[in-house]
Amino acid sequence: MLALAGMPLGHTFVFLEPAPEATRDIGEVIVASADDPQALHRLASVSDVVTFEFENVPVAAARAIAGTVPVHPSTEALATAQDRFLEKTFFRALGIPTPRFVAVDSRHDLDRATAALGLPAVLKTRRLGYDGKGQQILRAPADVGPAWGALGGRPLVLEAFVPFSRELSILAVRGGGGAIAYYPLVENHHRDGILRRSLAPAPALTPALCSRAEGYARAVLEQLGYVGVLAIELFQVGDELLVNEMAPRVHNSGHWTIEGAVTSQFENHVRAITGMPLGSTAAVGVSAMVNLVGSIPDPATVLAIPGAHLHLYGKAARGGRKVGHVTLVGEDAAALAQTWRRVELLAG
Ligand code: AMP
Repeated sequence: MLALAGMPLGHTFVFLEPAPEATRDIGEVIVASADDPQALHRLASVSDVVTFEFENVPVAAARAIAGTVPVHPSTEALATAQDRFLEKTFFRALGIPTPRFVAVDSRHDLDRATAALGLPAVLKTRRLGYDGKGQQILRAPADVGPAWGALGGRPLVLEAFVPFSRELSILAVRGGGGAIAYYPLVENHHRDGILRRSLAPAPALTPALCSRAEGYARAVLEQLGYVGVLAIELFQVGDELLVNEMAPRVHNSGHWTIEGAVTSQFENHVRAITGMPLGSTAAVGVSAMVNLVGSIPDPATVLAIPGAHLHLYGKAARGGRKVGHVTLVGEDAAALAQTWRRVELLAG
């Protein structure tokens, strides 16, 4: 999707990708793992700028080429986002509220952490968790032993369980010259830890909520000297926002921007990393984005739904895997609700 947005701007793309199915015929594909030195050398030697759309790219690989070719976002942003404990510590240092959290490296630590935070709480691996993987909810003392059995042995973090009223995300983009633009806040609905639906702009936004989220995004972007699109996932509790995590990349909760914003997150990311002026992040209407998870619906059935924009990723379908999304753009949320429910019946 980054390449599809960048090609009209005159760019060509080279991909470093261990499983090339998602890059089809839109540029050279170097089929290798991201820490293959020869592949990295080839990528750096043919590129003017390198970016990533997967936050578990090895930091050492990004550092290895950052001396030869600009890498955006920075390796510091990548390293911070890869470790939930470092990430939350970083947010706190900037005065950004997060759920309470404690690092856990042993069973003894876990007992102390549950005593300190109380239950319910969420035990997470510090690294490599996504879509709810590497997580256990501790509701009662009897859950502690099994959760340790499932996750113990790896560096962990215990977080207080947040009784949020909803999950939101903010996407922001910072250009090479330091200009920042914010997309409207998005409301996200998950099932089994996987994002299923995003509504943008989120219903019932207040100016205070928006400026709070934008302030947090600005603080992160400026502290990191960040260039590109950043996503921050938030829990709303009353009028407050707690930051759950950040993604130093274009984000699934920003896919609606392809049709629903003046400039998509993908185009703005390309603009930012190539030193071009940013485009408007304004919404052109109200959007609903529905992920296609685990199975690919019949395209004709999806496209028969008025206003449906279908995006298939060219990935083989398997349980829990995001294989595409559908975006609907309308004038108001009530009208959209009719059609997104039709899409969701097809969405897995
Ligand atoms: P994560 O992998 O941290 O994004 O978590 C996946 C999902 O688990 C989130 O989108 C929330 O729905 C839920 N979750 C994560 N952390 C917490 C928490 N501290 N309190 C309540 N729910 C959480």
